[in-house]
This record gives sequence, C-alpha cells and structure tokens, in this order.
Amino acid sequence: MEIAPVVKQIIGEIDFDPDALHEKYLHERDKRLERGARSYKEIAGELSHFCEDPHADPNFTRDPINDEVDFLLIGAGFSSLVLGARLRKAGYTAPSNIRLIDAAGDVGGTWYWNRYPGAQCDTEGYVYMPMLEDTGTMPTCKYPYQPEILAQANRIADKYALRENAMFQTSVTGMAWDDKAKKWTITTDRGDNFRSKYVVMATGPLSKPKLPGIPGINSFRGHTFHTCRWDYGYTGGSTLGELDGLKDKRVGIIGTGATSIQCIPHLAASAKELYIFQRTPSCVDLRYNKPTDPEWAASLKPGWQWERMVNFAEVLEGIPDVEVDLVNDGWTVLYRKAFGPALKKAAEQVGRKLDREERSQLLELYDYQNMNRIRQQIADIVKDPKTAESLKPWYRQFCKRPTFHDTYLQAFNRPNVHLVDTDGLGVEQITPDGVMTNGEEYKLDCLIFATGFETETSYVHRAGYDVTGRDGRKLSDYWANGLRTFFGVAVDGFPNLFLLGRTQSGSSLNLLYGITRQIGHVVHMITETEKRGAASVEPSAEAVQNFLDDFWAHKRKADRYWAECTPGFFNNEGNVDNNNGFFADSYGGGIRKFFNNFQEWRDSGDMVGMKFAFATEGTDS
Ligand code: NDP
Repeated sequence: MEIAPVVKQIIGEIDFDPDALHEKYLHERDKRLERGARSYKEIAGELSHFCEDPHADPNFTRDPINDEVDFLLIGAGFSSLVLGARLRKAGYTAPSNIRLIDAAGDVGGTWYWNRYPGAQCDTEGYVYMPMLEDTGTMPTCKYPYQPEILAQANRIADKYALRENAMFQTSVTGMAWDDKAKKWTITTDRGDNFRSKYVVMATGPLSKPKLPGIPGINSFRGHTFHTCRWDYGYTGGSTLGELDGLKDKRVGIIGTGATSIQCIPHLAASAKELYIFQRTPSCVDLRYNKPTDPEWAASLKPGWQWERMVNFAEVLEGIPDVEVDLVNDGWTVLYRKAFGPALKKAAEQVGRKLDREERSQLLELYDYQNMNRIRQQIADIVKDPKTAESLKPWYRQFCKRPTFHDTYLQAFNRPNVHLVDTDGLGVEQITPDGVMTNGEEYKLDCLIFATGFETETSYVHRAGYDVTGRDGRKLSDYWANGLRTFFGVAVDGFPNLFLLGRTQSGSSLNLLYGITRQIGHVVHMITETEKRGAASVEPSAEAVQNFLDDFWAHKRKADRYWAECTPGFFNNEGNVDNNNGFFADSYGGGIRKFFNNFQEWRDSGDMVGMKFAFATEGTDS
C-alpha cells in the first residue's frame, strides 16, 4: 500500500505492515472458501426435533378457528407488539380487531426463543427495548439480560391487550387475497381458515435456525439441541446460568458467533469439560456493562427514548451534524472510528476533504490499528499463547458482527475449557459418540449447535409459506429475481399487505429503530385507507418502480470490503452478489435519508402512488 502523504500526516507513524496484514486476511478468507464445507442443513424432516419448543405445552390442542379480524400480525415479536400498540392508540381498541399469530407459545419473538444462558441485549437496552416510556419501565442495566427483555414484550402485550385474540403454537401455511371480498384468507397448521382485512408480515431476519451440513449430524447418541431451543430440562439452571445438570458432562459447542460469546462463559463455569469447536473466531471487545444510574434515570425528560434511538442510529451512520453521542458505548466508539466521523475529523485536521482513495486508505489503516488492539487484548487476557493465537480474528472488523463481552475470553483460562481450532475447516463429521475434526474424535455427552440462522435463502422460504396476491400472483414468483416493494413495506398486486423488517429498508444496528419508523408509516397508510372508506390499498406498479430506481441506485454495493471478508452471513458466505443475503436489501444511502424520503412522500399528501379500491368498485387511484 502506497500510503498517501495526507493519510500519513493524519495517522502518524504506524507500527505494523498493512500489506502483510492484508495478505494474511486474504489468506484466511481463501482458506475458508476453499476448505470449509459451508453448506447448511434446513431444520426439517428427521431433524425437526431441533425446532421443538421447549417452553410450550407439547400436548396443546384447540379447535380450528374460522372467524374474521381486521388485522393479522404475523409474528409476535417486538415488531408486531409495537405495531399492535400503535394500532390500539390509533383507535382499534376492540380485542377482536387484532390477531397476532406465532409458532411460539407466547409473545417475544427472538426473545421467546433465545433463552440460552447469558442471552443479553448486545446493543444498549435504553435504545433497544421498545416503549420504555409508554410502559413506565427502565432496564436495570445498560445491556439487560433476556428475562428482562422478554418481560418488556409481555408488558406491551398486556397493556395493549394483544394476547386476547392471538394464536400461539400456530404457523401460517398459506395466505390468499380474495379480491371480491377484499380480504385475505389465511390457513394454518392447526386447520384454521380465517379472514383478515389487513395482514402485516413481521417475520424477523434471524428467525429460522439452521444446522451445519456436517455428515452424520443425526447419528449422535448423546443429548443435542440448537442454542435457540435451549434445553434447561437437561442442563439445569436458567438464562442466568448455574447449569447444574452439566457438572458431570462433557459438553461440545459448535460455532463461535455472537450467541456463543454470550453462553460459553456459563457453559465453562458449569460443564465438567467444555470443547469449543471454532471455524472462525469472533472479534470480541470488552463490554463494560453497568447498572442503571437511578439519578440519571430520574433526570430523563419525556420523549427521551426516541431522542436517544435517533441519536444512536445517526451517530452510527456518521452524520456530520450529529455532535452529541448520547449512548457513548463500544458500538458508537467503534463506528466513530470506522466511518464518517473519522473522516470528518481527518478533514478538519488537514483543512480539506480527503478524496475517495485517501478516505478508503485511512479507514483501512484505522481498522488494522483497532484489530491489532483487539488481538493484543486477547493475548493479554488469555494465558495459553496457543489458545490466544487461535482466538485472534484476522479480518476487517465489520466482516462479522463485532461482539463485546466481559468474561468470554477469560473462560479460556479455565482448565476444563478446550478450544478446538479447526483452522477454517469446520467440524468434519458427527459420530454417534461425539465430534470428529482435525483427525481426532472428541467424545461428548452433549452437543450444542450455536450455528445461527438462515439468512441467504429467499424471504418466502424463510417465512415458511407463500402468499397469493391479486390475480393469483405468488410472492415467491414475483420476487424470484429479488424483492420489489414500495419503501420496503408494501407490494403491488398484494393489497392490504404490509411488511416490517429488512425488506428494502434503511438498516441500522438497532433493528427496533428502523422498525419503529416503518410502523409509523404503515399505521399512516392504514388510517388513510380507513379515512377514505376504502376496502383496500396497494402501491401502483409505477410507484414501486420509481422507488426501486432510487433504491437500486443507492443499494449497498458488493464492494472490495465485503469481497475480501472471511465468509459469514454478513457477506452471504462469500457469495457477495446473492440477492437474498442479509444485507442484499439494505439501502446504502443511509437510514436518515431513507426515512426522510419516506416522510417526504408522506408529507406530499394524498398517498401519491397508492391505489385504493372500494368494496363494490374496481381499483381506483
Ligand atoms: P452466527 O451465524 O453468527 O454464527 C454461527 C457460528 O457457527 C459461526 O461461528 C460459524 O463459523 C459456526 N459454524 C457453522 N458451521 C460450522 C462448522 N461446520 N464447524 C464449526 N463452526 C461452524 O450465529 P449466532 O447465533 O452466533 O448469531 C447470529 C446473529 O444473531 C448475530 O450476528 C446477531 O445479529 C444476533 N444476535 C444478537 C444478539 C443480541 O444481543 N442482540 C445476541 C446474539 C446473537 P464461521 O464464522 O466460520 O461461519
């Protein structure tokens, strides 16, 4: 790398060789792409036991329901709960108006399923946990644990009567638009066949667990489960740890992503022996969790939470006019060094804006510096030099979700904890007695899969059912070559259907921020439809195309950064051009611009581009 003079002036002397690091990163990537079997197995058929709900009554039965509601919200996680609350506030107060449906036994979404020990909000709870002011709640600490977060989901459901008409332990099997009745007909795996005027799909981005495509996966004779279906009946203890059932057990865990970082310290403290099978180490920085300061909490003024959510999103985005960093944590410090604010500071230092190449060089050098600091921190904390070396991440910081934890690295200093570094290859075989890798068999009593969630398959595949719109149009066909939406929330040919989540939206680390903004617009569209006495609303094909023209022009590009990453779900396992990937439908122009555009459309009045239909007429605009 020929460092530009202005970059040298900003960064000063460097004590590392950027070219050597770059080479090392590429080598680590290539090794994984060439050697690692990166295939995954869908949890279905003989593997379906991995998806059974350990928290719900397995004998639950009920009669099929054939009624009608105004709103069906698919998914009972925070997206649906916040939307349900907003609809209640907008006047839909009868319990029967709103139905939530979820395969889970209760509300909570990801926080219902992910109860593994140590499960914790890895962004600040004050910005992540929704509706704190509405429910008069304050998290007990900056990064609260799962029980507190699930309790907040329950609080919202209770306050806004969202459980009364809900269907739990029920999965949608299909959905079709009846253009005569101007209603959706929904079928489920419990034989229900009911109607709803509106349907909102709030299908989370990380809701379908997956298993690695390792031979022999179903042959293991010991106890096994996925982290998002933690079996406390076997391990004992709770989300807070103390896993007494493991004290005489040899436990193996496959995967070292954000989930493992949180549960490994508890497994380490409880298991007789713990074997951690690592393909690629996570980048782990320190968390510095702390209790909520009651004086600070008492000083907050009404509206504080939304102000903080906006501030967090905009600081992470590096918006130059955002001077104050209210959250001020590992994430904001990291983003400030990695993106816009770093460039702004640099420009101030040298009295001019840096050109494209200079900006890219500066950020790359900052990244090497930061990763060197993290690698050094590992060497300082982990006593065994070989283990410390294996735990060092060799990639740019955002290739994988950065993680933070105060006791993960320390767990490797326990004599009962064994890191099995597969050097990028991954576990090769599961045997009846354990795990085979590096030519050695590790005998285990219990094998835990911390192998994440489906992200690279299509939206419809992940939802688990297809949607048939007007004139028999199938969502799976319509989106076969990529998503087509209006601001990510509505689809032409699919009247009265709305989407929440990562379907062509501005994305932020704090998912709840983008979702809350989407919800504001969806509720607006619904209220406008009702105000007009219309039976249905949908965007015109032209409005969708206009939106897409701008979206594609600003789409996050599969640039050098992602192409050079070690594979993982952030870069679609190295398949950077995959249209279905986790970031494939993120707006690259930034979340502020995305939602400003949405607001501008809304402020222009009259629901431009939306088509309304009235019960006895055809579609009208
Ligand atoms: P990930 O997909 O991030 O991790 C899966 C892990 O399994 C990786 O370490 C992967 O290795 C490993 N793996 C897969 N196959 C094999 C194999 N054959 N042999 C060995 N290892 C294998 O899933 P997580 O559940 O950890 O995290 C998913 C996401 O969930 C996070 O990124 C985050 O967005 C979210 N999350 C959020 C939390 C919060 O508090 N808000 C907490 C926890 C998770 P490799 O890296 O090589 O692919």
